[in-house]
Amino acid sequence: MKDNRLCYCGSGKLYEKCCLFLDEIKKEYSDIKPHEGDEFHSYFLDVERYELTEAEDFFKRLIQSQPEHRDGFWGLARVYKKKGERDKMIYFYDQAIKKAKEFLKENAIDLEVIKMIESEKDDAIKS
Ligand SMILES: [Zn+2]
Repeated sequence: MKDNRLCYCGSGKLYEKCCLFLDEIKKEYSDIKPHEGDEFHSYFLDVERYELTEAEDFFKRLIQSQPEHRDGFWGLARVYKKKGERDKMIYFYDQAIKKAKEFLKENAIDLEVIKMIESEKDDAIKS
């Protein structure tokens, strides 16, 4: 029998440890429509510079306004790394890598960037 608690994305993970994290953001930030918040785009991806709650809010907004771009997911992974929220950290690193790989298909990203996210994720999991 199929376990209907498994995530619809096919990751094989439980929904509550997978796309629930993203679905909650979509619900919470439903006032922000994709591509309506372009002013967020140039924001610097450095969680050290911000309060964690501020950074978390910012990257959630970025995910809503730039859903195909890696930076919101990558930033949120770093926020959850600092907060020690491991499941969320892994989920958002994986999403960042997935988004970056989409850009690679269109030659719109350097392979080095993907390697950078992947090695950062590996280090984060070990630590
Ligand atoms: Zn999922």
